[in-house]
Amino acid sequence: MQLYKTQQLKVYNSLTSTKELFEPINEGHVGMYVCGPTVYSNVHLGNCRTFMSFDMIFRYLRHLGYKVRYVRNITDAGHLEDDADDGEDKIAKKARLEQIEPMEVVQRYTVDFHNILQKFNFLPPSIEPTATGHIIEQIEIIKDILDKGYAYEINGSVYFDVKKFNEDYEYGKLSGRKLEDMISNTRELAAQDEKKNAQDFALWKKAEPQHIMRWPSPWGDGFPGWHLECTAMSTKYLGENFDIHGGGMDLKFPHHECEIAQAEACNGHSPVKYWLHANMLTLNGKKMAKSTGNNILPDEIFTGNNNILRKAFSPSVVRFFMMQAHYTSILDLSNEALLASEKGYQRLMEAIAGLGNLKPGVTSDFDVKEWRQRCYNAMNDDFNTPILIASLFEGVKHINLIKEGKEQLTEEDKHILTQTMNSFVFDVLGLENITDAGKDSEKLSGVVELLIQLRNEARTNKDFSTSDKIRDQLAALGIQLKDSKEGTTFSVS
Ligand code: AMP
Ligand code: ZN
Repeated sequence: MQLYKTQQLKVYNSLTSTKELFEPINEGHVGMYVCGPTVYSNVHLGNCRTFMSFDMIFRYLRHLGYKVRYVRNITDAGHLEDDADDGEDKIAKKARLEQIEPMEVVQRYTVDFHNILQKFNFLPPSIEPTATGHIIEQIEIIKDILDKGYAYEINGSVYFDVKKFNEDYEYGKLSGRKLEDMISNTRELAAQDEKKNAQDFALWKKAEPQHIMRWPSPWGDGFPGWHLECTAMSTKYLGENFDIHGGGMDLKFPHHECEIAQAEACNGHSPVKYWLHANMLTLNGKKMAKSTGNNILPDEIFTGNNNILRKAFSPSVVRFFMMQAHYTSILDLSNEALLASEKGYQRLMEAIAGLGNLKPGVTSDFDVKEWRQRCYNAMNDDFNTPILIASLFEGVKHINLIKEGKEQLTEEDKHILTQTMNSFVFDVLGLENITDAGKDSEKLSGVVELLIQLRNEARTNKDFSTSDKIRDQLAALGIQLKDSKEGTTFSVS
């Protein structure tokens, strides 16, 4: 039987501001869409946190036995610099500054994105569609919204008519805003502005002659608006109605609000059952962001090449650090927090490494099944990874007590403990089993190989006093060299 039939998962739905029982539209299947990166620069650690939160959610849903179709897009066109549909396309601007093709910008940073995610041990999404690959679908949606009377064309651009939409639907329900308040709080539109109201947003923008990324449309050459691609790609791959839509909290308004409006205008109903929003990673108490420069790149952390942290940290330690916070809480990056995570991660890995050597006993001194259910309860409570990790450390405490001979577990319970630890640590949290002990032994091998090479050189030069000294002193340290026809090998006692 699938686990989801016995585990009651609850998720915090931003649309209703309540924790709700998770019941997918089609039993056993989950459709999940997450807004992907805009590929005009390297992803910073803040971006990674949001994607990691949804990687963990994807992993847990799969663990529960759901068949998940996870769609995470690549935004490779149409993102203007500001929410008011002004400014330059971010990708086109980067292309202009670096004097390369926009698609070279896209390729460079898509590759970077994938490399980083691989280092963090992400599972690939089921589909990773691009905005530029779905221009036709976006144009079809605009035509539909125009037909239904919720958009207007002006001078080669098409805008969504928020006021008209709000007469029949409710604009602002996701972010808890009222259109009347928004209108009374906005400045007058500038004389040159084409929009009827400041809240209207572009579905299609006319391309000025110098604009490089452009496509033909019924309204002339142009490019799609910021919000349209996600409506087009989520509808295409998950349908008019799907289970989960995710993204960072900062996308709630206007991006997700506009996605809801576009879909409702087309289909007459809300597109998404559960809206999930991941919270921000901060640095020095402020949101990590590309635009302000208050950010750190993952590679700068892995290499230690930065002015913020005192040492390098591995991807698994950074992942563990992220998982120690609930995905809806703000998390601040600091030396102290990462150092503490590193210690915790090593303790966890050491305990898991010792699981195989635990001798089974005749009775069990702790209730493993009850502990396993507590691990599930944590995850069932809106993916509460910090509580899960606290429970896993309870497991670690018992593993250590068994090792010391102070507690015992039956063979069956030992099996449940091992399986539960492995499932949650590796499959659900997505950590990798790379301990520092492993790294140390790599370094040791390198050093001994070097000494073997120096000893061989000494022997070739008939400098037997040096070669014997190397062998004897290594032996004194517990490292035995063995010479054979194939060469010299070593063992550590
Ligand atoms: P962008 O490439 O700017 O569209 O951002 C990609 C994703 O990263 C979006 O889901 C954002 O919400 C998310 N994001 C941006 N900054 C942060 C941050 N400081 N912490 C967590 N997520 C972030
Ligand atoms: Zn989106």
